[in-house]
Amino acid sequence: MQHLVRPCFTDTGYVYAKRAEEVARKHGFDRVARLASNENPRPPPPAAVEAGIAALRGVNRYPDERMEALKEALRRCHGDYRFVAGVGMDGVIETIIRAVVEPGEQVVVATPTFSFYGISATAHGARVTNVPRNEDFSVDADAFIDACARSKLAFLCSPNNPTGNSTPPATVRRILDEIDGLLFLDNAYVDFSDLDYRPLMRSHENLIIGRTMSKIFSLAGLRVGYAFVPAWLEPFYERAATPFALNSVSAAAAIGALSDTEHVAATQEHVRAWRRRFMEETPFPAFPSDANFVMLDVAPYTGDEMVDLLAARGVLVRSCTGFQNLGEHYIRVSIGEDWENERFLEAVRSL
Ligand SMILES: *Cc1c(COP(=O)(O)O)cnc(C)c1O
Repeated sequence: MQHLVRPCFTDTGYVYAKRAEEVARKHGFDRVARLASNENPRPPPPAAVEAGIAALRGVNRYPDERMEALKEALRRCHGDYRFVAGVGMDGVIETIIRAVVEPGEQVVVATPTFSFYGISATAHGARVTNVPRNEDFSVDADAFIDACARSKLAFLCSPNNPTGNSTPPATVRRILDEIDGLLFLDNAYVDFSDLDYRPLMRSHENLIIGRTMSKIFSLAGLRVGYAFVPAWLEPFYERAATPFALNSVSAAAAIGALSDTEHVAATQEHVRAWRRRFMEETPFPAFPSDANFVMLDVAPYTGDEMVDLLAARGVLVRSCTGFQNLGEHYIRVSIGEDWENERFLEAVRSL
């Protein structure tokens, strides 16, 4: 019956990190260092857990379809902007594509980068144009702008996954000035950088800034994402969205998490300190990162070989071989707890 499945799903899809438990069992570790998915090893903020539990008692009712309480919390956090929410930023990305792109139309992506933009666009019948980044992984703004001439929607990730570098806000501004369509700026890791792109929302009607509660806020399992959107787009996003997509428990926990600034500050401090150590202490060249992970050039090993070598030493990292327009010899290592990071450094030095 497989012939019934659309071709875009028969041979590709999102690549998940190797399951930690499997590897641990295979190599006899009672715990493994989980450095493959850029999660925050810190447990969720207590206020998030409490709010989530309280909300569970009311789940006989559908959630507020407009997510007013969450949007109010976001305005307290960021100021007076328009927001949309979804099931992870992935859910937001999917809904934006659904709202904007007709089958056969073009979506532009600056690669190498997060794979889901291309996967989701393809799944919606779009044609994806990948614009390769420069050798240092900075965005080739001229090529990106040229490609956008025939496109309604383009994706740019900053800080970028998996390379870790950021695109300066001035470059983003130039892109916004020169394209006619929408730019989706993925800010999943912006809390780990010193950059702030939010002011661009005030001057440009073609900017969407995606955010997630999965990374710095430690809520990956609850699947909450949101975006800053121009006011004109908000009602159409709501029409395109799956009804009641974001559940009330996740939304309540997200509101709780947003109130905990200590959690954010402690995570930032931890990540900054370890990012420095990863840069200085790995025997392989590391690329400067504004995120909670570092990409390493592990040549002469391939990324896949290095994943296996480190798994055998109780450390899970992500091979970058699946990323478009990136060589075979890179891995991405998340910053985890102290013992996880120490084990990674020890393992990588032992090779
Ligand atoms: C993790 C990640 C996301 C998705 O986050 P969710 O909110 O968990 O769906 C989006 N973009 C990038 C670049 C990411 O790394």
